[in-house]
Amino acid sequence: MDECGESSPWICHICDATGRGEAQACAQCYMVTCPKHLQARAVYNAESGLYELQAVCLLCATEALH
Ligand SMILES: [Zn+2]
Ligand SMILES: [Zn+2]
Repeated sequence: MDECGESSPWICHICDATGRGEAQACAQCYMVTCPKHLQARAVYNAESGLYELQAVCLLCATEALH
């Protein structure tokens, strides 16, 4: 039924949840992530010397802790 390809479905690479519409990608691994597993983190930007909020997936956020 939904064959018009305007909003292609996406799959979260962590939980395999599917969704439609604009896919959110992790700012570090660039993989599609559902809103549940994407969190805003303050990431230091060496160029501007400021912390910026980036949408980072749970896996990348967890790795950063180790
Ligand atoms: Zn997910
Ligand atoms: Zn990631």
